Amino acid sequence: TESASALDARAYDLDRAHVFHSWSAQAALKPLVIAGGKGSRVWDHSGRTYLDFSSQMVNTNIGHQHPKVVEAIKRQADTLTTIAPATANLARGEAAERITDVAPVGFNKVFFTNAGADAVENAIRMARLHTGRDKVLSTYRSYHGNTGAAIVATGDPRRFSNEYARGHVHFFGPYLYRTEFWATTPEQEAERALHHLRRVIEAEGPDSIAAILVETVPGTVGVLMPPPGYLPGVRALADEFGIVLILDEVMAGFGRTGEWLALDAYDVVPDLITFAKGSNSGYVPAGGVIISDPVAATFDDRVFPGGLTYSGHPLAMASIVATIEAMNEEGIVDNAATIGSDHIAPGLAALAEKHSVVGEVRGTGVFWALELVADRETREPLPAETMAKVKSELVARNLIPFTAGNRIHVVPPCIITPDEVAEAMSIYDDVLGSL
Ligand code: PLP
Repeated sequence: TESASALDARAYDLDRAHVFHSWSAQAALKPLVIAGGKGSRVWDHSGRTYLDFSSQMVNTNIGHQHPKVVEAIKRQADTLTTIAPATANLARGEAAERITDVAPVGFNKVFFTNAGADAVENAIRMARLHTGRDKVLSTYRSYHGNTGAAIVATGDPRRFSNEYARGHVHFFGPYLYRTEFWATTPEQEAERALHHLRRVIEAEGPDSIAAILVETVPGTVGVLMPPPGYLPGVRALADEFGIVLILDEVMAGFGRTGEWLALDAYDVVPDLITFAKGSNSGYVPAGGVIISDPVAATFDDRVFPGGLTYSGHPLAMASIVATIEAMNEEGIVDNAATIGSDHIAPGLAALAEKHSVVGEVRGTGVFWALELVADRETREPLPAETMAKVKSELVARNLIPFTAGNRIHVVPPCIITPDEVAEAMSIYDDVLGSL
């Protein structure tokens, strides 16, 4: 048999020879070899182990290799590995029921997709047909996925080279630390951001707008916690102008914020909810749209013109059922909430106290960002070269970080323990101190 180091070398060499990577110039890439994992840790063939404070793509909410979910996938594989979406299948029905159970009252149907981007695509399609209108309003600081409409709904610069879908208009959401509205308090930021959104709606023509699409807590763009009153205010504007409100819970949902859905903390009920990542921790690709009764009724007697070969794939469905059950049985959402308030929040506050490179700490549950700055007064972001060093120094200390722009996102699995948080805090401390 091949030695462990030979397996690591082969995995690396095959990757570099034949695997084309996302969002990257290919030549300089040096991907980590990962062979296995358990809970909040992953390792290579030779046994070098990393503490995962990225949850990979912010999706392994129940950690790696949860035995109940692995077993459910195996059992489903033995029974029926695939079946067309037009059939009725027990695993699919049970997954849809479990998902509507965690959604607000009045959400009783689920359209399953392969992931988050196509969930957003189909939510937009539903909103357009439900309203008979075309435009979609979303924020500049957002990420909604990498397919046609989803990438154009995306507000951050990944949008630029992809602008070919129609009817997308962007606005600024609240972000007090780098306010667009000269605000000094969260209340001011919310009020002025809502005024700006109202003006965008009026200037675009309310009768042309099908949907307002926002991440409940914008994630990849920096864990931007919405100030009190903002999301209810967006809901009120949507109601006033007959616009469908889509909350994108792909990253924030299923435990990440210490709630089943992030929207649970914000006194807001949308018309459509998109989900993916945490719904089954990515054990099998899956996502979908949770549909409120009025939008669902639009398609009672009218054809919904959308579908996917793997919509409601049995392996994905079995993994969703088992994931939601395990999260319930093991109090995983509650753990995310308490570990956030009792361990991550004070740990990050201590780092901010000690290291002037930390400009702001924000977040909740297991969803946090450390914004790193070259100067606390001017809030000038830490330059890309220094961020690259931060990232490589964290990996050198066996922590898998999630970095984006000038930020470290502290996003471990929901099952993370106090000891693992302490271990990560000391690694962050060490690296921030070395700058
Ligand atoms: N929406 C949000 C809020 C996301 O964070 C992401 C991915 O990070 C997506 C949509 C796209 O999901 P996927 O990569 O599964 O297509």
